[in-house]
Amino acid sequence: MINNNQLPLWFRTGKNKAEYLNMTIGILKERAPERRVALTPEAAKALISLKTKILFESGAGEEAWFPDAVYEKAGVDVVSRFDVLAGSDCLLTVAGPLPGEYDSWGNGKVLVGHLNPLNDLQLDKLRTHRITSFSLDFLPRTTLAQSMDILSSMSTVSGYKAVLDAAGHLPRFFPMFMSASGTVKPAHVLILGAGVAGLQALATARRLGAVVEVFDVRSVVKEEVHSLGGKFIEVPGAVEDARAGGYAVEQQEDYKKRQSELIHNHAVRSDVIVCTAQIPGKKAPLLIQKDTVEMMNPGSVIVDLAASTGGNCELTTANSTITHKGIIIIGKVDYPSMLSMDASRMFSNNLVNFVRLILDKDGKLSLNWDDEILKNTCLTHEGRVTNERLLSSAKG
Ligand code: NAD
Repeated sequence: MINNNQLPLWFRTGKNKAEYLNMTIGILKERAPERRVALTPEAAKALISLKTKILFESGAGEEAWFPDAVYEKAGVDVVSRFDVLAGSDCLLTVAGPLPGEYDSWGNGKVLVGHLNPLNDLQLDKLRTHRITSFSLDFLPRTTLAQSMDILSSMSTVSGYKAVLDAAGHLPRFFPMFMSASGTVKPAHVLILGAGVAGLQALATARRLGAVVEVFDVRSVVKEEVHSLGGKFIEVPGAVEDARAGGYAVEQQEDYKKRQSELIHNHAVRSDVIVCTAQIPGKKAPLLIQKDTVEMMNPGSVIVDLAASTGGNCELTTANSTITHKGIIIIGKVDYPSMLSMDASRMFSNNLVNFVRLILDKDGKLSLNWDDEILKNTCLTHEGRVTNERLLSSAKG
């Protein structure tokens, strides 16, 4: 018969195992078509120096061009998926384990990733298995949290790649050319939304030599747009709400009408439109109507980075590229995955910086619930949904 004292401390006290032992962190291969990996070899070294152990699914880094051998050299245990699930206290992930895998992973574990809590979350699984889950989508957009900000880092990738994609489809040059065969005018690019993706799109389009105009409902971005060489176009009278944490809020009907006219006038003269306008937790604002698209020059390109939340363009189809009356409309939602190597580097550095927050100096789990970053990002803990934003979005 087993003496109670022979049972491990975490079991006797009813606490999470992870709170008593050095953390074993697991990395699973993400589901195709995702090509990113949640931990690069360099980031793995950083975690090992924090006294954690890493179990890494063989092949999980392949799509980001990080082979198993490099992880092994970094001190990581490369094992099967089964062994990662069986042995890890904490999973670092892009999109989380498969729904059927929570049973084999067990109870009371820690999950950290890009869990897309407002759209695609396995809340039942997280609650039933008493997972302490953190989604970095809910990070406060503060200076302190900047080093963990996956939304910013992945938007940087998307803004850059969207412009390259547009340039790849456009049957024109971006820069002006003066040559013996005549002068080629520069391409005109219109960017809707000057958040992180929009500003990166602006910088990239300018580097390629285009003339760039930018529209946003937040007039505070005007200076940034000018400093990156763009022209800011605006409609006076937008609703701005200080309580929205720097995010945009929905606009009044009258404003929307004036905005729609302004965008239409600029859009029909543009060769490329990059749409990035979003409102967190809501459908993306509709900014480009079908008749505007039909008045653009044939061969023009629209890249809609808001495709996953409905798109800024009426004709966008998420995950597809279509041609409507000569206009190419790109609704790709996986630009970070397409730039898998650097996107994984940025993403995993964000995760490592977050993990520093939840570990003590001996590599054990230590959760300080007074910390704003932990409070904001924690979705579930001990079988309950703890996140205010998630709870209020469930109420509608
Ligand atoms: P986002 O993806 O939520 O939205 C993209 C842009 O679309 C925003 O600039 C928004 O104002 C704009 N938009 C929304 N509705 C629009 C409409 N109808 N017409 C035109 N534009 C519209 O934004 P994001 O990139 O996640 O940035 C959100 C906020 O967070 C910004 O204030 C940004 O400066 C801030 N931020 C802060 C930090 C930090 O301090 N650590 C880091 C990143 C972002």
